[in-house]
This record gives sequence, structure tokens and C-alpha cells, in this order.
Amino acid sequence: MSTSEISGFYKKTMSERLSIVQRMGNLTEEEARVIANTGPLEAEMADRMIENVVGSMPLPLGVAVNFLINDRDYLIPMAIEEPSVVAAASNAAKIARAGGGFRCETTDPVMIGQIQVVDVADPEGAKVAVLEARERILEVCNEKDPVLVKFGGGARDVEARVIDTLQGPMLIVHILVDCRDAMGANAVNTMAEAVAPLVEELSGGRVYLRIISNLAVKRLARARATFTEEAIGGKDVVEGILQAYAFAAADPYRCSTHNKGVMNGVDAVVIATGNDWRAIEAGAHSYAALGGHYKPLTAWEKDQKGNLVGTIELPMAVGLVGGATATHPTAKANVKLLGVKTASELARVIAAVGLAQNFAALRALATEGIQRGHMSLHARNIAIMAGAKVDEVDRVVERLVAQKVIRVDRAQEILKDIRGEG
Ligand code: NAD
Repeated sequence: MSTSEISGFYKKTMSERLSIVQRMGNLTEEEARVIANTGPLEAEMADRMIENVVGSMPLPLGVAVNFLINDRDYLIPMAIEEPSVVAAASNAAKIARAGGGFRCETTDPVMIGQIQVVDVADPEGAKVAVLEARERILEVCNEKDPVLVKFGGGARDVEARVIDTLQGPMLIVHILVDCRDAMGANAVNTMAEAVAPLVEELSGGRVYLRIISNLAVKRLARARATFTEEAIGGKDVVEGILQAYAFAAADPYRCSTHNKGVMNGVDAVVIATGNDWRAIEAGAHSYAALGGHYKPLTAWEKDQKGNLVGTIELPMAVGLVGGATATHPTAKANVKLLGVKTASELARVIAAVGLAQNFAALRALATEGIQRGHMSLHARNIAIMAGAKVDEVDRVVERLVAQKVIRVDRAQEILKDIRGEG
């Protein structure tokens, strides 16, 4: 490739940018057309959402069924490239129905904005001075977002801590902001920046960072569900799931994958609704590690009747206004399909999906192993990778599954045979 230093790339039109990358990346006309196709997201809209846009990257959108959450039925849009996730969520939700579905709740949608103060002569004294000025601080913050205040949100409280760092002690001030139906990053960052001069004045120090924290411990979503012993498939399965949970709780190598399974469901709904999944991922994993030891986001227990009780608790900073939630046409349609009216309701639904997803993964692992359930879906991907056309995929999959060998080389052999080239 010639140099990737392209001056003024951002100033060019989308099609100019695409021609440049097509040439430099040796893309065919067809490949360039594929990239340029933004589907329902109008090209002009995509171009305004991020920088240096050349096209879009579609993901499959599935709808999980069977979810009963706080006595309400939901159809849940999930955007994800991984096979089995939507099927597993739907299946888990069906099993949960026998135990009454999911009970979910959320705290108020409060986010934390951090203000870092350095070079403070008397950090403990400064901390108290900041806390004394709580009302003034909240006033400055709230003046910045009258719309949020009108909707019942706004800055609610102030916290301050002195921490030891590589650069010496620092005063860290937190503003706690009720973000209502917004994810809140822009809202909180704007407030943190606005209040920084006052914090400098109060503390006598210098402010550097003014930014939201993704460790949203004040914006939690919780769900619980009972999976009856009978619906799960008996005592041994309950036992197997409890063993799997104990493994995850004791071992970070397993726990990482345990939580990845939870996030399969969580992220798919977060993406489908146009929310910031990096924020949710960062929040979930930092919350899991909060006690100094990386923990499962879910917990599994057995009740007195021998049924399995699952719970989940994680930060859930999702919104229905702001960001892509209100601009991406597919996200808007998905929110309508889901039928949620507030960001907190969306957070509750996502918590239920995370719990369902974890149940499905643990059940599969504790019984037949994950690969059997995945086999035909995995085989589909392998068949496509081997070059099978739409009308050949099913035949290749059938033979791969029957032979229990899901490999590209075998799929290629089968294809040759089907095409009479063998
Ligand atoms: P935003 O600023 O676009 O919208 C929020 C604003 O909408 C509020 O401040 C309020 O003025 C208004 N509003 C109207 N109706 C409302 C209602 N019912 N409830 C609440 N507010 C209402 O978006 P945002 O939510 O502040 O920021 C989200 C975006 O910030 C996302 O795109 C995210 O990717 C991005 N972001 C994230 C981080 C991070 O997570 N660390 C950092 C920077 C930016």
C-alpha cells in the first residue's frame, strides 16, 4: 500500500473517500459497492454520525421471543453476528416463564461525573470545602441542562475523596447526575466541565480531567428468575449449573467466559437500540472487578423446592434520547418494537436478557456441552466460508452435521461432490 497519510481525507465526500480506499485497498467494484451500501441509514446521516465515513457495516437483527418481564410480554430485538445467541435467549425465556418469568428492577438513572483536582495543599480540607459547597456546585451543574431538569433529572449530589496516586494525593470530586432517559455522557461531561472552575476555587488546586465514569454503580439494573427443576431437565442439570457457577466465582479464567456469555445477550440489545455498548462493557467488567477480585455478574442458587434461582446485577447506562438511539432509523424502529417507554425500562429488559443468556450457556455447558447446540449454526458458517451458494448451504450443513466433522476442508469436499466436481 502507498502511504496511509491522506491529507484532508475528512473533508472529502463519502464517494471520494471510498474511491481512495478502493484504489489503495485493491477493492473490486463489487466490494466497494458492498461497503458503500448504508441500507436504511441514509448515507448523509452516517456521514454525520462519525468521521471519515465510507459506508456501513450491517449486522443480522434477530428477535428473541418468550420474554415475560415484570408480568409484561416483550419481543426483544438483538443485533449480533454470533449464531445461537438469539435462539438460546428465547429458549431460556421460555423455561423462565414456567417460574413466572423475570422480575426486574433498577435504581434511579444516576451517573457519576469525575473531576480530578491536583496540587492541592490540604486535600482533606479541600474535600470538606467542596462538600460544604454542595448546593452551589449543583446549581452550576443544573444551569447547564435545563432540559434535563425539566424532565425530572439533573445533578443531585456531590461526593469527594482523596486518593493516593503515582503523582501524589489527588482530590476526586464526583457529581451525581440523574440522567432520566439519556445515557448521559454528554450531559454529565458538560456539567463536569462547567463546574471545574468553582471546584478549583474551592479546593485551591488545579483541575485536569472532567469526564463521566463508566463504572455506573449508581445506575444498576437487577433481574431474577426461577427456573424450575422440572423445566430445566432435572436435579442433575440444576447441580451442573451450580457447579459451573461455583467454578466461575472461584476462577477468573472461567469467569471471563461466564461474563462474556452474559454480555452476548446484553450487547445485542444495547446495539439493536443504538446504545453505546463500549460504555456498557466497560461498566459491566469494572463492576465485576469492584471488590478487587473479578466476579460473575450473575449468581445461581437452589431454592427450598430444588428449583434454580438466578440473579443478575450490573450497571446499565442506556438511553432512549441522545446518541444514536434517536437518530439511527433501525434503532428507533427496534425501540418501538420493544415497546419500552423509559431508559430504566430498557435497562430492566436488558438485565433479563443477560440473565437468560447466562442460564442458556450454563445449561448447555452443564449438559451436552456447547458445541452440540451450536453445531448446525456453526456448520452454516463453515459452509458459507467454504463457498457454498444460498441453495447449497442446507445440503452442506446436513452432511457436515451427519458426519460430525465441522471443518472448512470437509465442507469444500462436500461442495465438490454436490457440484459433481469430485
Ligand atoms: P445527548 O447529549 O445527545 O442527549 C442528552 C440530552 O437530551 C440531555 O442532556 C437533555 O438535555 C436532553 N433530553 C431530552 N429529553 C430527555 C429525557 N427525557 N431524559 C433525559 N434527557 C433528555 O446524549 P447523552 O445521553 O448525554 O450522551 C450519550 C452519548 O455520549 C453516546 O453517544 C455516547 O456514545 C457518548 N459518549 C460516551 C462517553 C463514555 O461513555 N465514556 C464519553 C463521551 C461520549
